Amino acid sequence: MHVAPLVCLQPPSTPARVASLDIVTIGDELLLGLTIDTNGAFLARELAHMGVAVGRRTSVGDSANDIVQVVGDALDRSGAVITTGGLGPTADDLTKPAIAGIFGRELYFDEAQWERLRELWRSRGRKGEPPEANKQQVMLPRGCTVLVNRHGSAPGIFLEDDRGRWVAMLPGVPREMRGLWAEELAPLVRQRLPAGTTPIRSITVRTTGIAESALPERLGDAARGIGSLSLAYLPGQEGVDLRLTSHTIPASDVDAALRAGADVLRIRVGTPVYAEGSMDLAEAVLVLCRKAGITLAVAESCTGGLLGARITAVPGSSDVFLGGAITYANDAKVAMVGVPTEMLARVGAVSREVAEAMARGARERLGASIGIGITGVAGPGGGSPEKPVGLVWVSVDAGGEPVSIGGQMIGDRQEIRFRATQTALDIVRRRLESGAGT
Ligand code: ATP
Repeated sequence: MHVAPLVCLQPPSTPARVASLDIVTIGDELLLGLTIDTNGAFLARELAHMGVAVGRRTSVGDSANDIVQVVGDALDRSGAVITTGGLGPTADDLTKPAIAGIFGRELYFDEAQWERLRELWRSRGRKGEPPEANKQQVMLPRGCTVLVNRHGSAPGIFLEDDRGRWVAMLPGVPREMRGLWAEELAPLVRQRLPAGTTPIRSITVRTTGIAESALPERLGDAARGIGSLSLAYLPGQEGVDLRLTSHTIPASDVDAALRAGADVLRIRVGTPVYAEGSMDLAEAVLVLCRKAGITLAVAESCTGGLLGARITAVPGSSDVFLGGAITYANDAKVAMVGVPTEMLARVGAVSREVAEAMARGARERLGASIGIGITGVAGPGGGSPEKPVGLVWVSVDAGGEPVSIGGQMIGDRQEIRFRATQTALDIVRRRLESGAGT
C-alpha cells in the first residue's frame, strides 16, 4: 500500500462533505480478543443514526507501521477516518506520531493543554506535578483542532488537510470516547454532512416462543421487508428479534414509517410479540401485572434466583414482585415452599408435579396473586436417560388450574437457565394478555 504524506496546508474554509468514513480502533488488546471493540460498535451506531455510512471498521495493534498503513489506506478510500485508542501516556500509545506523519505535521508541546492536565491532576486530589510521561499526551500535531476531553487526560485531535480529508483521534477508554464524540466530534461531522443526507434508523420488534422458521409464514408479503424498510431476523436466547431498517427515508418521515412498519409486524406475528426496542420480557410482564393489579412470587431451583434477578433488575418492580425462595436442595423445596417429601420421592425433583407444588407454595406463602415454580437439569452433569440435561419444568399458579410447560431447553448451562426464566415469564405474559388475570 502506498502512503504518501499529505501536503500540510490550512484546512479548507468550507468543510468537505462526508457521506462515508472508516473507523480504526487501535490496541493490541483488541487483536488478542481481551477487549471487545465496543468503541467501534458505538461509533458505527451513532454514525448510522446521522446517515453516515461506515465503509470499513478495522482493528490494528499498537504498531506505528500498522497504524500508518491502515489509517493511510482508510484515508485514501473514504477521506475521513475516526480512530480510538493509543492516546495515552505510555510507550505503546503511538497513534498521534503515526497519524501526524501521514499528514506531514510535526508534534509540538501544547502549553494550554498541559495547563488543563495539571488542573485535572490537582482536582483529583493528587500532589505535586503530573508525571513527565503525561507530557506525551499534550504533544499535538501542528494545525490540529483540539477535541477537549472533559472526562480524562488525553485530548482528542481533529486533523484535516487542505483537501478536506481528515482523521479524528479519540481516546480508547469508552467513557471518555463517548463524551468526546457527543461534545466535540459529532458537531464537526454534522457540519460536513452532504445536503439531504438520510439517516439510517431501525426499530426492533421482539418475539418469543416462536421459531425463526415460522415467522415468514406469519409475515406474508412483509417477510422480506416493508416498502423500502429492510427486515432482519435476529435469533437469540430471548427469542427472535425482528429489526426493520430504513436507509433512504428522509429524517422528517422516517419515524412515522418505522412506526407503521412495526405495527404491521405486530399485527401479523400476533401473540409472540412482547416488546419493542430493547425492553426485556421481565419489564413487559411487570407492565401487564401492574395494569392488572397482580403480584408475583417465585420458587426457583435450577435457575437459582435468575428469575428474581431479572424481575428486580427493572426499576420499580417492588409494586409487583413480592419475593421468592431459592429451593435448590430437596429439603429446601419441602421446608420453604411445602413440596411434599412423598412427591419428591415418587416423581423426583424435576417433574411437573414438583414445579406445580413450588409455584403453589410460593404463591400461598408469600400471599401473591401468581406463583412461579422452576425446576430442571441445567447440566452439564446430573442428567439421566429419563431426565436429560436441559429438561426443565416451569409452572405458573394463579389459584385455579396451573399452566405448566415441560421441555428440553437447548444450549449450555447459562442458556438453559436463561431460557427457563424466559419460558416462565412468557407464560405469565400470555396469560395476562389473554385477559385471564388470576
Ligand atoms: P488513555 O489515555 O486513558 O491511556 P488510550 O487512548 O491510550 O487511553 P488505550 O490505552 O488504548 O486508550 O485503552 C484504554 C482502555 O480503554 C483500555 O482498558 C482498553 O481496554 C479500553 N479500550 C481501548 N480501545 C477500546 C475499544 N475499541 N473498545 C472498547 N474498549 C476499548
